Amino acid sequence: MKLEVVTIGTELLLGHTVDTNAAELGRALAAAGAEITRHTTVADRPDSIRAAVAEALERTGFVLTTGGLGPTRDDMTKTVVAELFGKRLLLDEELLAGIEARFKRLGRPMPAVNRIQAEVPEGATVLPNPRGTAPGLWLEDARGRVAVLLPGVPREMRGLLVEEVLPQIVRRDTGVGAGGRPRVVLSRTVRTTGVSESALAERIGPIEAEIDPLTLAYLPSTDGVDLRLTAWRLEQGDAETRLATAATRLRALVGEHGYGEDGTDLAAVVLAALRAGRQRLGVAESCTGGLVAKRITDVAGASDTFIGGVVAYADVIKTAALKVPLETLQAHGAVSEETVRAMAEGAQRLFSAEASIAVTGIAGPGGGTPEKPVGTVWLAARVHTDTRAVRRVFPGDRDEIRLRSAQASLDLLRRLLAHA
Ligand code: AMP
Ligand code: MG
Repeated sequence: MKLEVVTIGTELLLGHTVDTNAAELGRALAAAGAEITRHTTVADRPDSIRAAVAEALERTGFVLTTGGLGPTRDDMTKTVVAELFGKRLLLDEELLAGIEARFKRLGRPMPAVNRIQAEVPEGATVLPNPRGTAPGLWLEDARGRVAVLLPGVPREMRGLLVEEVLPQIVRRDTGVGAGGRPRVVLSRTVRTTGVSESALAERIGPIEAEIDPLTLAYLPSTDGVDLRLTAWRLEQGDAETRLATAATRLRALVGEHGYGEDGTDLAAVVLAALRAGRQRLGVAESCTGGLVAKRITDVAGASDTFIGGVVAYADVIKTAALKVPLETLQAHGAVSEETVRAMAEGAQRLFSAEASIAVTGIAGPGGGTPEKPVGTVWLAARVHTDTRAVRRVFPGDRDEIRLRSAQASLDLLRRLLAHA
């Protein structure tokens, strides 16, 4: 299968931004068995984009673009490609609701220009983008010519490529091996949390040669960084053996940062560890407003281990229900090590539990100060008389900060239990 890549952005031509998308697409598509026959970079100008996409479609019938999907005037890709395909842009109500919800969580009115991001060329497939507001788009015309439009932000581009585009490309072009034996595409994911992508990469090192022909993708989300190994068009048995070997090697390299594989949920891992030690759990939450309890009770069978939680949002609940001393709150504030430790002790006492989790922080968008900016969260985990507390400053909007806080609090308890 042959295709062309068009990377769009004046900043790429000016050298202000290095075109990492082209390099990443080159590696990933080659591994998936697709051949890039040409790569073009053009400015954010409708005529340049139109010409590049039209010529690529003439030559190969399949073009993949990155960039120019944002809400501003210089983001022209969607309009130009829709025109080229003779499609109208229609408002996608579901997409609009998603974008509106994102702004609502940020506590800001949605600028009118963002409506544009909810417009979709008629008949196009929307590729959901959980890492940003602009989704990817897959357009196909009556002659079977395809244009795939991906956002320019590298981590959004990579997520859509790995999760949506490559599987689709491979499905269109299923290979058959020597002797007519069928070939498969299989993946295996090692899940990590509490460690940055760059720190992980340092730990793992240059593993690509060792695992070849498998590929490795780093996929960051609010849960942590997933490491996705993929075998492209190998025979089933060969693919499984290679994936098992590579996953074992990866798990050894990531060490204590790894908590499971594939669809494993951290809350389920924590519950299993508590159950094994016959420990029951209570939680005290401020800024997460019950999200930790929800994560835990999402796991079927949690009732034998999870007792309950308090949403201690106002200080009066921190003092009344959790017995956080008023002096502690006055001297150190609600978002402090002293308070989160007292909350963890309070939850343990209130629920007569062996273990507890506590969370208090500033999810924003208001309430930040220079010493405690938005995203500052204190987390505590306690098992018997042993408390561990950490301060984190999480990036992202209100929703992301809360998701990251819940995940990190579960991870803190997981690590404490592992070392007990
Ligand atoms: P856009 O989708 O064009 O608005 O791009 C969003 C962000 O991604 C900008 O900060 C760009 O500089 C960056 N970006 C766009 N295209 C690329 C690329 N090919 N390689 C690396 N970064 C890019
Ligand atoms: Mg751009």
